[in-house]
Amino acid sequence: AKRRGRNRVEAFNDELRLRTVEVKRLSDDILRGLERGEFHPFFQPQFDAETLEIVGVEALARWNHPTRGFIAPDTFLPVAESLNVVARIDEAILGQALFQAMRWEGHGLGIPRVSVNVSCQRLRDENLIAKLKAMNIRPGTLTFELLESISFDTADDGLKQAIEEIKALGIDIEIDDFGTGHASIISLLELSPKRLKIDRRLVQPLLESTAQQSLVRSIIEIGKVRDIETVAEGVETLAHAELLRRLGCHTLQGYAFARPMGAEDFLAFAKARAWM
Ligand code: C2E
Ligand code: CA
Ligand code: CA
Ligand code: CA
Repeated sequence: AKRRGRNRVEAFNDELRLRTVEVKRLSDDILRGLERGEFHPFFQPQFDAETLEIVGVEALARWNHPTRGFIAPDTFLPVAESLNVVARIDEAILGQALFQAMRWEGHGLGIPRVSVNVSCQRLRDENLIAKLKAMNIRPGTLTFELLESISFDTADDGLKQAIEEIKALGIDIEIDDFGTGHASIISLLELSPKRLKIDRRLVQPLLESTAQQSLVRSIIEIGKVRDIETVAEGVETLAHAELLRRLGCHTLQGYAFARPMGAEDFLAFAKARAWM
């Protein structure tokens, strides 16, 4: 037993060493990838629940790694966070998303708005407001999705002020993953967000129980009372879509309609829809 124990410890150490090497390699690759512009947005359309028109699109980061191909954010974001470079990734995604939005306009596709995910690191970038000002963003066309897990309850004045300045530039604030974090609803509503995005962990079990339904219904009701729109993510079936529409949710996003796509695929998708 003793021997087995030692082996287990050795195996654990080996694994730890492997993981350390792996994280080190990933770190070097991320820094190099940022230099070389390997981070690109994929685009997932959002639909009006009533008319099913495209009303927006969320930009989701993908890392086009030279040998490993496309890597999803769940793999690289934790490492990027520890390297303090999530703000740089966010900036790269925003720039490219705005560039694509100009292209869509050039093609006569009226896509009302683009949403990007914004990390806490990015909100703390001292030059953020100056950079955003220089971009001359048309009010209402850009949304910043902020994770509910950014602890708004304990947010310092700097963070709150940054959010106010962002809103003053005409950029909408949306609370992402709503209903799963620890932030109090009061403190979230104090930010007067334009939209709440109902987390997919609340959306997916929707057809299973009335308890799940009443939770989602009450989020939508809070939104109505406070004049905040609601978006549902992770809408995987038309049955979910229909139920959400009946509950009064404004906007739907999920595999039932479209997966996130590269820029060229998204352009083709939006063009095909425009002809329908
Ligand atoms: P999120 O903002 O909650 O994004 C929604 C995630 O759900 C995306 O995963 C999307 O591909 C996926 N999804 C979309 N429709 C469905 C569906 O019908 N069913 C299911 N099961 N999933 C669906 P993705 O692209 O892997 O992104 C994961 C997370 O990484 C995002 O979660 C967001 O928090 C973060 N992220 C993505 N891009 C960026 C970025 O540019 N900057 C920052 N800071 N975070 C980002
Ligand atoms: Ca999001
Ligand atoms: Ca989300
Ligand atoms: Ca999420």
